Amino acid sequence: MLKIEHIGIAVKNLEASNEIFRKLFNKAHYKEEAVETEGVKTSFFALSDSKIELLEATREDSPIAKFIEKRGEGIHHIAFEVEDIYSEMKRLENEGFILLNTEPKNGADNKLVCFLHPKNTNGVLIELCQEKK
Ligand code: ZN
Repeated sequence: MLKIEHIGIAVKNLEASNEIFRKLFNKAHYKEEAVETEGVKTSFFALSDSKIELLEATREDSPIAKFIEKRGEGIHHIAFEVEDIYSEMKRLENEGFILLNTEPKNGADNKLVCFLHPKNTNGVLIELCQEKK
């Protein structure tokens, strides 16, 4: 794994949170993007070479809606950049981690992504992401 690529934060209202984080960072988000398959709308803030991703649910069965219902707003996942997502998925599976998807999925911000089950990672939802070439 190369570095922390971004931290994902679950929010109830993307517009209101964009404003909070704009004030916090003193700069605006650089993009908004919906990921229909995940039922989320995302917004990205860049800080040097890492990012903050805000996530708002777009439907009731979205993982973000379920997360907020259970735990409230807050840090949802940490994403690590990998060079080759296929070989990292295989390596981590061999180490006993549980992958939440067997094939990389299309994520926001031009990425291939895979999530690891938090039960094997001390309760932290981990995302692997690789820039699409
Ligand atoms: Zn993410």
